[in-house]
Amino acid sequence: MDLALGEARAAQDAGEVPIGCVIVRDGAVVARGHNRTLRDRDPTAHAELLAIRAACAALGSERLPDCDLYVTLEPCPMCAAAISFARLRRLYYGATDPKGGAVESGVRYYASPTCHHRPEVYSGIGETEAAALLRGFFRERR
Ligand SMILES: [Zn+2]
Repeated sequence: MDLALGEARAAQDAGEVPIGCVIVRDGAVVARGHNRTLRDRDPTAHAELLAIRAACAALGSERLPDCDLYVTLEPCPMCAAAISFARLRRLYYGATDPKGGAVESGVRYYASPTCHHRPEVYSGIGETEAAALLRGFFRERR
């Protein structure tokens, strides 16, 4: 999660929403990503999607069943679904996101009958720092 927080800080330095993500297999980092929606002019350029794409490219597979994903904020509906489609084994996230999350907030995607793969979910990892980064970011903007 420290690496994911580092990615979140990189996003912040680039003026993006400070969210970072790392994908790990067998203790080794396979891919990392941070939000790039402004730079890429792409509303789907969330940290998780970018990391999933990079991991799939690196491993030459459209599924990541031996991999675990660390992200600093509770995934949104789009990313929660992508994590399921990628068959990721475990999801670790930091802060909960009552306004935009889809794991324990909102649609609770993994509890829905249309979800066909549920990762093991662990929340609250590095929560304090992840939440502080986001609070600082939005305080500056408003
Ligand atoms: Zn997302």
